[in-house]
Amino acid sequence: MKVLAKGKRFWRILLDVLFPRTCVICQKPLGTDSSYDHVCDRCSSSIVWTDAQESENLFSRYKREAAERGQKTFFNRGMTCWEHSGTARQLILAMKYKGGNFLIRDIIAMIKQSGHHVLNFVKDSLLVPVPTHYFKRVQRDYSQTELIADSLSHYAGVPVAKRLLACKNHGAQTNLTTEERLLNVKNIFRCNANDIDKFTRIVIVDDVITTGATLFACCAAMHRRGFRDVNILTLSHS
Ligand SMILES: [Zn+2]
Repeated sequence: MKVLAKGKRFWRILLDVLFPRTCVICQKPLGTDSSYDHVCDRCSSSIVWTDAQESENLFSRYKREAAERGQKTFFNRGMTCWEHSGTARQLILAMKYKGGNFLIRDIIAMIKQSGHHVLNFVKDSLLVPVPTHYFKRVQRDYSQTELIADSLSHYAGVPVAKRLLACKNHGAQTNLTTEERLLNVKNIFRCNANDIDKFTRIVIVDDVITTGATLFACCAAMHRRGFRDVNILTLSHS
């Protein structure tokens, strides 16, 4: 194993000399000892992680706020990785809008390093990414939620069902108020499950939770189809 590690390090140093890497966040050169392939240790260490208890509190707050609006939420528990600010925010934006699908490897490595609560959360679950409409998928060439769910599935050894949820086309949620977001996603998601045990623990996967409108609509679609153990996992929360 030591020989293998030394060989790997040799090639890493050689490649760094031939093709110097820079951090996608601060643009400074990455050292050969950098923990990640595209993010320097200084930037990665500035990420503000949200632990299991903070996540539970956060999602309790989402449920409370929805109840105050008179909205039912059909999820049991929620978990998240980090605050949507600084390096974390830039990583998500780069992955979502700037063709940064290659960043998922670093993101999974960060979760492996600091997100044990996330890995515990997905155990014995079926991962279901929030669906991306065909038009958006064609625009971006990939779906960032599928990328996250696929990579987590591979690393944590749990199954993923990429076409379990489908959606109609809807406009971007970014500049809408909470009420407008809720209206925008009302009844646009459909669950295609036929032969999946309705007692399966479902974890809906998304990149960011802001008001929760999209995720709650996905959970409602799963609930309409009979699933009773629906949960939420996001990389970021804002
Ligand atoms: Zn950096």
